[in-house]
Amino acid sequence: MLQAKLSEKGQLQFTVPKDERDRLGLRPGDMVALVVKPGTDEIDFQKLVTTTMCRLCNGSGNFYNEGTCFICENGQLPLHYTIWDILTSSRVRMQKVIINVTTQFVEIPKIELKSNTFSEEAMTYAQEVLQLMLIEQFAERSVTDPIKFLTPSDVVLNEIISLLHTPWGKERVRSMFRHGSI
Ligand SMILES: [Zn+2]
Repeated sequence: MLQAKLSEKGQLQFTVPKDERDRLGLRPGDMVALVVKPGTDEIDFQKLVTTTMCRLCNGSGNFYNEGTCFICENGQLPLHYTIWDILTSSRVRMQKVIINVTTQFVEIPKIELKSNTFSEEAMTYAQEVLQLMLIEQFAERSVTDPIKFLTPSDVVLNEIISLLHTPWGKERVRSMFRHGSI
């Protein structure tokens, strides 16, 4: 039987045994479900997934080997985040300029990052990755199949491509519209 002490605020504190913590890869702050095993009075611990891997640092929590990633916590972002919400929140530990570009054909926010901490090369990389994620979020999608982007006309595509600064960023935009995701 598992026992827990009730706090004055009505909280119950359990201790998850070390071997269970190791087995589930639990870290402080993780959400854990307690499930009674059917037909027993034993408790099963289950790790609840509430976060997703940060695509800027690929889940490492370290950006470009230059320091703590400036948009995530330990390589994780909230599960149903939008990159727009994150960039416009105070969690971004960086100077940022977000320009809502209303050009002739597309309305996709353009981001410019400035940093005294990270190298220019790292910032160029961050700028491109985050701009691609913004395009992915804001580009028009098919009404019948929301996973698919609407195929943009050449003029629109060129305008979207112009939001990127590097040849690889521009190529990734092209392939994103060819394949439906980044
Ligand atoms: Zn990160």
